[in-house]
Amino acid sequence: MTAASNVPEQERPESQRRGYVYIVGAGPGDPELLTVKAERVLREADVILYDDLVSPDLVDQFGAEKIYTGKRKDSHHFEQDEINEEIVRHAMKGRTVVRLKGGDPFIFGRGGEEIDALRRHGIDYEIIPGITAAHGASAYTEIPLTMRKVSSSVAFCTGHPVSRIQVPDTDTIVYYMVASSVHEVLDAVAAKGRSGETRVAVVQNATRYNQKTFTGTLDEFRKRERAVYSPALLIIGDNINQFIENSWFSRKKKVLMTGGDSRRYSGTDYIVVNFPCRRIAGADKEAVRACFEGIDDFSMLFFQNRSSVKYFFKYLFEHGRDVRHLAHMTISTAGRAAAAELLQFGIITDCCLESDASAGLRLSGMLRKEGLASQHILLPCSGNVDESVAAELREAGNRVTPLGVYVHDAQRQEDTIDLDFIDEIFFSSPACVRNFRSLYSTIPPRITVTPADERTAEEHRKQFGE
Ligand code: SAH
Repeated sequence: MTAASNVPEQERPESQRRGYVYIVGAGPGDPELLTVKAERVLREADVILYDDLVSPDLVDQFGAEKIYTGKRKDSHHFEQDEINEEIVRHAMKGRTVVRLKGGDPFIFGRGGEEIDALRRHGIDYEIIPGITAAHGASAYTEIPLTMRKVSSSVAFCTGHPVSRIQVPDTDTIVYYMVASSVHEVLDAVAAKGRSGETRVAVVQNATRYNQKTFTGTLDEFRKRERAVYSPALLIIGDNINQFIENSWFSRKKKVLMTGGDSRRYSGTDYIVVNFPCRRIAGADKEAVRACFEGIDDFSMLFFQNRSSVKYFFKYLFEHGRDVRHLAHMTISTAGRAAAAELLQFGIITDCCLESDASAGLRLSGMLRKEGLASQHILLPCSGNVDESVAAELREAGNRVTPLGVYVHDAQRQEDTIDLDFIDEIFFSSPACVRNFRSLYSTIPPRITVTPADERTAEEHRKQFGE
């Protein structure tokens, strides 16, 4: 560390203020395999730089600025040097940076190089380990990496580059980065004298809804021409048992949720795959700030849906306020989902209207009936929602301030889900059916379709002709 780093951060002049960097392992794919510590620092972060192997579903939950540093076609391709520079650049602005990497940062993760850059610039950091792909694959396929009397040692190796494949003398070997070199690795293992009967498994997309495994013997695999898709691991060793085709994870029903409350699929039978059909992005922070400063001017809060509740409270807390600052207002909701979400924050809705396009009309009718005209209504909503509810409330003589607390973006095409792995689809609204239809022309008949209500069922029949 340089001498400068001994001066307390707050005492340094602005120009020298350095932030803090967390190098964090995100685990192998299942977003729930994040550590508690990683989750905390992700919440505290100002900026998150994340890789290809990190699920967008995971980073989307956090409010920080997100910078994708992977290799997707439509975005800038970052070389490792550029990533190092980018981390340093943000930290030098005094920001809290999370560098989020697939699996564990120190298993084929280049975490070491990033730390070198931080040390050179005197930037403070810490490292939070993650569940590496081998551990994720092992647990989700029921392949114990060590096993009494069968395997007493395990090695993690890389299949890349092919000129430097190593075959250690351990009972179990796990090869990373093998999608294009499975045969070269297997030839190297055979050349080292391992029996042709040695068990082999390939695990693709370990711990994700589309996890897929192939098993066989070393000889069988060497004869087989089979495409292996990244990310994949190759596991070699007689600890590979016969259970994996029917592992606990493969037995679960995979349910695609296009929205709504995933608690309806809680319990041990399901894996919920969140696919909102549209992504929710952040709000206009300046407008949100101004609104909280003038919160005392409002007499009523009206939430039209669950997201508006969720994001409104997120910003309320971020501005150092809590529910007591809302105590002077009447709080109403459209739809039971919004009311249930409100309850999560300790507030019982004063009035729960049915959720539909004319909710505004009914709310103003109700206000009139109760002699509550000329309200000043705060309407947290989507930044790109149509203005009809606000217009209806205004027409009835109220003052209305719509506040965009989230924005709907189109779902990214490359994040689409492989329906081959899905057993059930839950449609939360007619809009979700329409959005889904813009991405998929058919739904395989094998898949159970569960609409949230009759209007959604009707839209499903209309869009998919059933
Ligand atoms: N730091 C990561 C590894 C990065 S190297 C970790 O600890 O897991 C990238 C390689 O990791 C991929 O080529 C693949 O071999 C492996 N990998 C990462 N996630 C995986 C997953 N979900 N399923 C199978 N292999 C995975």
